[in-house]
Amino acid sequence: MSSDFLALALPYVQGLSPYVPGKPIDELARELAIDPADIVKLASNENPLGPSAKVCTAVVEALTELTRYPDGSGFALKQKLAERYAVEPTQVTLGNGSNDVLELVARAWLAPGRNAVFSEHAFAVYPIATLAAGAECRQVPAKNYGHDLEAMAAAIDSNTRVVFIANPNNPTGTWFNQAALNAFLAKVPDNVLVVLDEAYIEYAADSDLPDGMAYLSRYPNLLVSRTFSKAYGLAALRVGYAVSSAAIADVLNRVRQPFNVNSLALVAACAALDDAEYLERSRTLNSQGMQQLEEGFKRLGLSWIPSRGNFIAVDFQRDAAAINQALLAQGVIVRPVAGYGMPTFLRISIGTAEENQRFLDALTLVLQQV
Ligand SMILES: *Cc1c(COP(=O)(O)O)cnc(C)c1O
Repeated sequence: MSSDFLALALPYVQGLSPYVPGKPIDELARELAIDPADIVKLASNENPLGPSAKVCTAVVEALTELTRYPDGSGFALKQKLAERYAVEPTQVTLGNGSNDVLELVARAWLAPGRNAVFSEHAFAVYPIATLAAGAECRQVPAKNYGHDLEAMAAAIDSNTRVVFIANPNNPTGTWFNQAALNAFLAKVPDNVLVVLDEAYIEYAADSDLPDGMAYLSRYPNLLVSRTFSKAYGLAALRVGYAVSSAAIADVLNRVRQPFNVNSLALVAACAALDDAEYLERSRTLNSQGMQQLEEGFKRLGLSWIPSRGNFIAVDFQRDAAAINQALLAQGVIVRPVAGYGMPTFLRISIGTAEENQRFLDALTLVLQQV
């Protein structure tokens, strides 16, 4: 007789549902019995440019060191990030993706009896990390799909230890401006950690989005998390980081794995920071692709949520599951967001011009069928 290990798990772990990732290309290729090269995946906010050539060179050179443990302190990368943001290296925490940073926060400050505040339709990792720590999720209703920062500040109570805010947010693409962030931070008690998730901030340069780094000197309870997975095109390697007060970084360092970021990721991230041209190409391709999709949606009479990310949520005003299925049958993978409380929407990651066109052509066809 085998034991019921689910029943033996911590009560709050039993209640967790695993994160649902975008469908892998190879999986759909097997199901449809077609060549993976004929599939378009616009489902996981990945960079359609492919990796930077400079990054690839650096990674290949680092392969000779695979037998060695990585630099657990991430010295070179922290140094580079500290210079870029004019902070001390002691204020930087590296993560196995910025997802790791979010989990380190939960592990250090959340537990049964405590709560984390975040918005409805916010990034799925906030509830997962909160529930996995046994803490309560204070999910605040969204306003026009975006964060209602006033209501979020009001939802904070004496058991709140963390507030997660994303700017722009995934999967909605919604954002808040500097004035809204100013007003919010002024209201949050100084013993509550504010995690400002800026996974897509590089796409929002020259817009009205505030730069979280500019707030760090005034708010010792602020942590800004960023990633190399999106605009820098390194999702496979898993590397992200947080910048905060040194005191917060010290706590995170106590709970992280000693070698949480691998050597190839460290080398790649350093090379990526030096490749300004790649970042610029990412941004340009993204804004062109965003415009292409918006024009396509307009032609099809569809509405969407304006987005500052590398993705856009389109509203079919009816259950989008059948549309998603029909797109899959056309070899096009996008992201259903029913799990985010948005069953009538699909989230489309911005691809290359050709990928966007294939998606729009498939969608045009599908809307005539279903
Ligand atoms: C993609 C994403 C992340 C983290 O991605 P990593 O690959 O773990 O760095 C964090 N926050 C949001 C809102 C995201 O969409």
